[in-house]
Amino acid sequence: MPNTAQKYSGSLGLPKKTESVCPECKRVLEAEYYEKDGKVYAKKTCPEHGEFDNVIWSDVKQYLRAESFAMDGVGLINPSDTVAENPNENASIMVGDRKLYLKTCSALANIDLTNRCNMTCPICFADANHAGYVYEPTYEEVVEMLKMLRSERPIKCTAVQFSGGEPTIHPRFFDIIKAAKDLGFAQVQVASNGIEFSKSVEFCRKAKEAGLNTIYLSFDGVSDEPYIQARNRKMFHVKLKVLENLRQLPHRPSVVLVPTLVRGVNDHQIGDIIKFAFDNSDVIRGVNFQPVAFTGRITREELDKGRFTISDLTKCVEEQTGYATPEEWYPVPTVAPVSNFASAIMDKNMVTFSTHPHCGLATYLFKDDLGNVIPMPRFVDVMRFVKGLEIYAEKAAKSRFKKYYILKTGLLLNKCLDEKKMPHGLTKKKLIKIMRNIMSDESKKTLAEFSWNNMFIGAMHFQDSYNYDLERVCRCGVHYATPDLRVIPFCAYNGGPEYRNEIEKKYSVPIDEWKARHQKEAKELEQALIVPEDQRPDL
Ligand SMILES: [Zn+2]
Repeated sequence: MPNTAQKYSGSLGLPKKTESVCPECKRVLEAEYYEKDGKVYAKKTCPEHGEFDNVIWSDVKQYLRAESFAMDGVGLINPSDTVAENPNENASIMVGDRKLYLKTCSALANIDLTNRCNMTCPICFADANHAGYVYEPTYEEVVEMLKMLRSERPIKCTAVQFSGGEPTIHPRFFDIIKAAKDLGFAQVQVASNGIEFSKSVEFCRKAKEAGLNTIYLSFDGVSDEPYIQARNRKMFHVKLKVLENLRQLPHRPSVVLVPTLVRGVNDHQIGDIIKFAFDNSDVIRGVNFQPVAFTGRITREELDKGRFTISDLTKCVEEQTGYATPEEWYPVPTVAPVSNFASAIMDKNMVTFSTHPHCGLATYLFKDDLGNVIPMPRFVDVMRFVKGLEIYAEKAAKSRFKKYYILKTGLLLNKCLDEKKMPHGLTKKKLIKIMRNIMSDESKKTLAEFSWNNMFIGAMHFQDSYNYDLERVCRCGVHYATPDLRVIPFCAYNGGPEYRNEIEKKYSVPIDEWKARHQKEAKELEQALIVPEDQRPDL
């Protein structure tokens, strides 16, 4: 019998106690979540640095509704771990003096290919060009990390995203993509600023041929202003060029736009970004908004002014597009019963998105031939379907008559669909066919057949020391792989008492030494860092 996600063991409702860290000294502190004026706040007190009382979610109703989908994952065993005392026990990390056992499988693994970058952005996570050292695992080291991910139990990692710095400037970039494909990753992705993809169709073609499925394209907005403000550079036409180049290919990687949202910089363009995605839906299959995390030191006023929560995003989407209300967004673990059911039917462990319900929300939009945009939750009773599926998954796992439960699920889905509210021309029958294909690479093809556009709209809120929650960290499904073959949750790698420093220090070389050893690449990067005339901000 496969291991499947189970009832939630964490605390629910408000007020509640959890653990966070001090933004100043990073020690673990008890935090109390409570409601005030319809918002969710977290209050914590450091004996040395005083009280911190910050907004976590701007809409308490949405916060509590998301919780109703919470689910425990199956855990993660990493037999390749070179640091753990017993790598055959459930993987763990330390946050301060707390040992956290990872509860969710690696739904998506990140591998930083380099901390070098062909841009120097003031809002960058990795701050690569100012670190004074180069962290750049070799091809062989990356392959070991990929093998480690494929050895995870009980669920093998099936999706990997190469990141950085700018991963496309790694000297073995294409070889690494190919290695991931050869090792059986179903989704091979790259998080990129797009500069290399914009330079030539050939680069796009090579990436596709090596096995690249998806480009997570950083995308701050649909005009030059947000790029100038956030990155001191005009970049919009570079992004357009990436799409144009990809369009030249008969088979191409798909694009997910990744806007980093900063209040006052690009929050007014949220609607236009979604409309832009629809206008380019032959190449773009989703938008994944990421409210900025505060990594450096900031004042309380700056924090209160700058904090942009997932609720704020869903409100902006409603105000700026009218496409979906905040109630039509669902948390990541909503889909966990789907993989539980698939695991039970196929009698093997499938990747389960048992991520903490407050890590991200998403919705799925359909645009019909009349130009109406309708979110899927408007014509699918998501709660009823998911809760019913959860019960069938449990029963099917124990039963020898699995086909019976496939039949029951079909009937359940039929009951949960409201044909009257569907986009123009869509029927239950067609929709079931589409849903079957949404998760696969073939989705675009199937949809083209039906002439609807569909768009995944998601929001991930990565944590910083102000909203850090140890419960969220241990339930994270986005993991970093490290050269010593550990897996570290994304937010523990980049936020709180971050692991990034430790790992990069251990595996990097001083920048001068690196330059002396890699004269060709050093020179190329020097050239690349010269901002082309058409990207310079007007003074
Ligand atoms: Zn402190």
